[in-house]
Amino acid sequence: MKIHEYQARELLADAGVPVPASSVVENVDQAVQAYDKIGGMVVVKAQVFAGGRGKAGFVKLCNTADEVKTAAEFMFNNRMISNQTGPEGVEAKKLLVAKAVDIESEYYMAVVLDRTKRCPVVMVSREGGVEIEVVADENPDAIVKQWLDPHLGLMGFQVTKLVAALGLTEKDQIKAAGKVLRGLVKVFYQYDCALAEINPLIRTPEGEILAIDAKMNFDDNAVFRHKRLQEMFDPSEENPKELRAQEHNLTYIDLDGNIGCLVNGAGLAMGTMDLIKLHGGEPANFLDVGGSVTKEGAIEAFRIILDDPEVTGVLVNIFGGIAKCDTIAEALIAAANEIGFKVPVVVRLEGTNVERARELLKEANIDQLIPADDLTDAAKKVCAKVA
Ligand code: ADP
Ligand code: MG
Repeated sequence: MKIHEYQARELLADAGVPVPASSVVENVDQAVQAYDKIGGMVVVKAQVFAGGRGKAGFVKLCNTADEVKTAAEFMFNNRMISNQTGPEGVEAKKLLVAKAVDIESEYYMAVVLDRTKRCPVVMVSREGGVEIEVVADENPDAIVKQWLDPHLGLMGFQVTKLVAALGLTEKDQIKAAGKVLRGLVKVFYQYDCALAEINPLIRTPEGEILAIDAKMNFDDNAVFRHKRLQEMFDPSEENPKELRAQEHNLTYIDLDGNIGCLVNGAGLAMGTMDLIKLHGGEPANFLDVGGSVTKEGAIEAFRIILDDPEVTGVLVNIFGGIAKCDTIAEALIAAANEIGFKVPVVVRLEGTNVERARELLKEANIDQLIPADDLTDAAKKVCAKVA
């Protein structure tokens, strides 16, 4: 799960990280009102789940109410296209109007989960700002890392090392940067983050240390235990098909191809996609109906797949263990009656109650339903049908 910058700023502020004053707005008038309250120089920032906003023109420094109005109009009326979005870009539904600050240096500070080392890693750099990806590519030594013991967390000596890497010399600033680092790590642990990033953390000419941009991702499997995150969840930013699937306990990920997949089990879904690709096809989605799928869940899965105008063929691959083949067959029949299959649906069933399932399907005599003997046969058939 992702949250917006303004929400990440709240979590950081609560953990003792200094962030400039700001307001979230949903229309141009509110943006102007927010400016009147904050005054002076402000920065208007699109709240979207993608970085690279600065370069795309969606972070704008403004000195007057008129400039704020122009910036807000631009951001609400145009889609933001950056290196982190597709060519279609993303829409900004909210903007942040934040007090602008004088920047002397920009730093980078982040905690992410290192899956290989199985622990969080803290990364800092004195070359923060909008080019951190370039730094990582061209000058990786400029990013200093410390791995955290999952139980002990951030140790004092690590704070010393990391803050030293920022090149700060004034005692107050060293202390302030240490506090930011501890705050960031605290948020990471407290909310089960997959990523918590401040970029940039800045130093003003007066020596103040402030976080002016933040990004956070959370482990979806832990969101249930954080009421605060649940409240921050913004469904309008999610893929509607993926949301719909979630509500029915289905794991669904939208992909670019045209062969819809309905599979039970994540590993089997991966294998199914591999075979589709091997035989020259492209999957339209990853859909795992799970082990304990109900008839209703499976019908909803068909609805989601068949609602997709890109889908020109479907592969149903069920290995009945806990999930029963006849349950899936019943769902197939119900879906066929309800929606009608306008595209070929290749079905491979194996395992628990498979005989009963085959009988049911035969009796139902559904148009467009093509039985397959095994997975290779199924993949070949569906690829041939959509070719
Ligand atoms: P993104 O990472 O999406 O490009 P940022 O919030 O990091 O967006 O903004 C990009 C750049 O805009 C920052 O590196 C900084 O130079 C400038 N900027 C952002 N917020 C402020 C602010 N409050 N005051 C002054 N400059 C800012
Ligand atoms: Mg940034």
